[in-house]
Order: sequence, then C-alpha cells, then structure tokens
Amino acid sequence: MAGCGPAGLTAALLLRRDGHRVTLYERFETPRPLGSGLMLQPSGMAVLDRMGLAETVARRGARIDALLGIEEHGRIALEAPYARLGVPDAFGIGIHRASLFGVLYEAVLSQGIEVRTGHEVTTSRTSDGGRYLVFSDHTHSYTHDLIVDASGWASRIDEGEQRGLLPFGALWASIPITPDDPHARNLLEQRYRRAAQMVGVLPIGSRSEGAPQEVAFFWSLRRVDHEQWHKTPLGVWKDEVRKLWPQVDFLLDRLTSHDDLTFARYAHRTSRKAHGNRLVRIGDAWHSASPQLGQGANMALLDAWALAAGLREGRSVAEGIRLTTRWRREHVALYQFVTAAFTPMFQSDLALWPLLRDRMMAPLSRFGPVARIQAQLMSGLFGWPLQTLGLDLPDYSALAAAMAPRAPSSTPSKC
Ligand SMILES: Cc1cc2nc3c(=O)[nH]c(=O)nc-3n(C[C@H](O)[C@H](O)[C@H](O)COP(=O)(O)OP(=O)(O)OC[C@H]3O[C@@H](n4cnc5c(N)ncnc54)[C@H](O)[C@@H]3O)c2cc1C
Repeated sequence: MAGCGPAGLTAALLLRRDGHRVTLYERFETPRPLGSGLMLQPSGMAVLDRMGLAETVARRGARIDALLGIEEHGRIALEAPYARLGVPDAFGIGIHRASLFGVLYEAVLSQGIEVRTGHEVTTSRTSDGGRYLVFSDHTHSYTHDLIVDASGWASRIDEGEQRGLLPFGALWASIPITPDDPHARNLLEQRYRRAAQMVGVLPIGSRSEGAPQEVAFFWSLRRVDHEQWHKTPLGVWKDEVRKLWPQVDFLLDRLTSHDDLTFARYAHRTSRKAHGNRLVRIGDAWHSASPQLGQGANMALLDAWALAAGLREGRSVAEGIRLTTRWRREHVALYQFVTAAFTPMFQSDLALWPLLRDRMMAPLSRFGPVARIQAQLMSGLFGWPLQTLGLDLPDYSALAAAMAPRAPSSTPSKC
C-alpha cells in the first residue's frame, strides 16, 4: 500500500481486519498530514462507524449544521443545512487533518500493521505473479499480491505526467479560538466577492484533550498570484480580507507572518486506469477534485471500504479489484462531474458563474426536492453510495452525545 493518507490508512485497517498481511509505504520519515481542516460528511462517517471509530473521530471534531455563503452585498449565495437531508439529527463534522490522521494512525499501529517510512515511490513493476514498488533511492519493495496506490493526486505510480492543476488554490491556517470569540460555532461560513475572492471559516474541534478549539481559515488565491502574495506585506492582504468580511478581524490578528498560512493547490483529475494488473488506485490517486464540495477524504474512505469488500467477495485478486472499481465508478464519476461544474461558481474569474450561483442556484436550492438534492450532494450521499456498499448512516444522536458539549450558535456573524 502506497501512502499514509485517509485512503491508505483506512484500507490498511480494513484489509488487516480481513486477515490480509499489509505493508504501508510512506514517503515521509514521520507520517504526517499536510494542511489544515476538512469536513467529514455522513458518507465518510458511515465507514468510520463500521470501523468502530466514528465516536472517537467525532469527539475530536466540531459539529457543523450548515454551510452558509454570503456574497459581498449581503445576498445569501449558499445555504445548505444538513437538516434538509431528511435524516434525523444528521450533521457534518469539521476536523483538523491531524486529528483524523491521529485516530487512523494510532489504530494502524495498534493493529501491528507494518509502516515503512522514508520510502518515496516512483513507480511499480510486475514480477512472478505479483507487483512491487520502486523507490526514489532505486531500491524496491518485495513482491506483493496487490499494490494499492493511495499516494494522492500527484501519484507517480504508472501515471506519467500529472495534469489537472486548477488555476485557483487557497491559503489555509489553523487558528486557536477562545469561547468568547464571535464566530458561529456550528457553521462552515464563507464570504465571496464574485467568484474571484473567497474567505472561509470552518470550526475543526481540538487536536487533543485539553488543547484549544481551532478553526480552519482559508482564502482563495490564484496559483500565479501566490509568489506575489508572499512578497506583499501581510497587512495589505489583511486589509483586503477585512473589506470582504470585517468580522474575521480577530482571526487575522492571530496571523503574524506569511508562514502561518499554507498554500494548497488543487488538481481535478481522474486516473485513466482505476485498476490494472495487481494494481488498484483509491482516494485521490484515482480521482481528485477541488475541495469545494468537501468530499475527497470521504470518497477515499468509501473507496477503502469498497476495496476490502471487493477482495472479500471476489474469487481472485483481479476479480476483487474489478468489483471495487465497479461499485465505486458511478459515484466517483457523478461527483467529479458535479465538482467540476460547481467549482467555477466559487473559484474563478468568470462573471457568469457567480451570477448563476446568486440569482438562480441559491433561490432554487430553498425549495423542496432541490433543497433535498443539494443536501444529499453535500453529504456525499447522492447516487446511493452507501446502499451499493451495504453501509448505513451512523446514529447521529449517539455521535452528538459523544461529542464534547459545545455552545452551539446558529447565528452567523453579520456581513
Ligand atoms: C485545502 C484542502 C481542503 C480539503 N477539504 C476537504 C474537505 O473538507 N472534505 C474532504 O472530504 N476532503 C477535503 N479535501 C480533499 C482531501 O484532503 C483529499 O481528498 C484526501 O486527503 C485524499 O486522501 P488520500 O489518502 O487519497 O490522499 P492524501 O491525503 O493525499 O494522502 C496521500 C499519502 O501518500 C503519501 N505519498 C504521496 N506521494 C508519495 C510517494 N511518491 N511515495 C510514498 N508516499 C507518497 C503522502 O505523503 C500522503 O501521506 C481537501 C483538500 C485540500 C487540499
């Protein structure tokens, strides 16, 4: 298995549980997640629930009841409460990447799964009815029955040159907050100037018992502008953010250097071959997209579940990985399509897309079936992925009870 991200760690745990011998290869000397926060949707939580990890994960995260996006003139551009899903008590969970990684990695270590760090995979080759990985120092792994490529969107395993980088990325920071801070605790909130500027705040819980609660703060930025941003005094950028959303001033005050923010690039790509001879790709190594819909990690969890189920049901490794990709293909294609369609409404220089977002999509999404479809899309549940994989939603009232008591506020800070 190549990669210790959500896909690789989850697949390793599930395969181990089924009695397979698993080795994880990771490029970093110390496995670590890169980046700030992410949203765990009901789709991903369904997998964690069946692994017995949902409550542990939920306790480290923050409950998110809705997405709220407001454009520069105060008009609601996106309003998506989980309540519209029609599932009692369902919610999303904002979580620091380190928290999700920590839960999965601790489980991997406690299962005695072998993790080989400092192994940067460059490619893989077949041999003697198996396949092995080749590393950047020209050594190679021993031959395995199956190589699972979970090395993310920049996977080098038999993929040739990677394309698909999107023009916009985003600056991200995790910022500690106090109970008195004036932010809405149970919302993922965003502010937009057309689609060219976006600032957002996502509560992401606390990384460990007793550690402060944090929020992920993000600012949309064109890739080509990143270098210039770095050369410009931080105060100039802060003024620009304040103009769009003055109420995040208290967060900006806690950013003191450019180095407090990490620039994340996004790629939209689907691998030509989801599986091959003794090789299967899961997570971003198969399909990656902008995080606008907040699905990537959740899709990775579903892929990992499908892989374990496929290998259980298939009579051979080849049949197992065929089943895996067959069960996941439609859902993946659907979300790749929808994310590609949605992203320019929130990150682009185009004028028409944000206009459609504000004047058409936002009003429409308040009504009956459209509201329900939007909630399903956001939750990762559109296209019946759980039914295909024999999964169920977690018991959200039990999850809510397990989470640290917070003081929820449904009041968004005013624009
Ligand atoms: C800023 C940002 C915000 C996001 N927000 C959300 C969100 O809200 N919700 C959501 O569901 N998703 C979100 N995503 C997407 C999500 O992070 C990814 O879809 C998810 O991490 C994919 O998991 P993965 O395990 O497939 O890949 P990764 O998380 O990329 O993990 C790949 C692993 O492989 C290792 N690796 C890479 N190359 C090699 C190599 N050559 N050799 C060995 N090891 C290697 C890496 O070090 C890493 O450990 C966001 C992404 C970004 C960038």
